[in-house]
Amino acid sequence: MKEKIAIENLVKKFGDNTVLNDITTSIKEGEVICVIGPSGSGKSTFLRCLNRLEEATSGQIIIDGEHLTDKKTDINQIRQHIGMVFQHFNLFPHLSVLENITLAPLDVKGKNKKETEERADELLQTVGLSDKKNVYPESLSGGQKQRVAIARALAMNPDIMLFDEPTSALDPEMVGDVLQVMKKLADQGMTMVIVTHEMGFAKEVANRIMFIDDGYFLEDGKPDEVFNHPKNERTKDFLDKVL
Ligand code: ADP
Ligand code: MG
Repeated sequence: MKEKIAIENLVKKFGDNTVLNDITTSIKEGEVICVIGPSGSGKSTFLRCLNRLEEATSGQIIIDGEHLTDKKTDINQIRQHIGMVFQHFNLFPHLSVLENITLAPLDVKGKNKKETEERADELLQTVGLSDKKNVYPESLSGGQKQRVAIARALAMNPDIMLFDEPTSALDPEMVGDVLQVMKKLADQGMTMVIVTHEMGFAKEVANRIMFIDDGYFLEDGKPDEVFNHPKNERTKDFLDKVL
């Protein structure tokens, strides 16, 4: 498989605080990576560096051969290929579900309204919310909101999806539906980087697990390797607490 994202010696500092420490790794097309680790270890910062919501302090991030860290790079162009889903959905409250989904393709891509709405219908079907098309976010449950947020990200036809703890804010009974949508995407070959505490999902769906602690990637391997034969004591401690 072709390399999709190359990360070379990535360092991110906030003032004196080094949050990502010399990270080098490569993500192939269609890979599903789960990033796990304690709170404050740098998971969100890592994800945000991948679409330049945070500027790397040094190092390189190369997506489809384009240097993200290069000032000349048109970041908006690259971001159109990268969907992001956050813990707190961030839907537009004054827009209906359909309008939330069609806003960016109509606005940013200048697409045809009819085609965009047809695509939104397809996406609502994919996430199991066809009947919610005309309602407003306030009438949705957390799990439904998150599935709309996923549909909205997919409406730009991204080829990379980043998820930052997409189920952490949900009531337990809502988690399964969201994970199921993510699994469907993974099965369709989407390249995905997912920060999650859902270890069952990570074991089942991820091709690779990265364990980050204090800004260092201490493990980067197949789920079986990381969960059953971790190399590092810190990983063992973490897994003992969460499994
Ligand atoms: P995680 O997602 O693993 O919980 P984060 O990436 O959010 O961790 O944070 C890692 C570290 O970076 C923490 O010490 C946090 O306080 C710090 N940090 C994150 N964002 C900022 C910011 N915008 N300014 C300053 N410090 C930040
Ligand atoms: Mg975080």
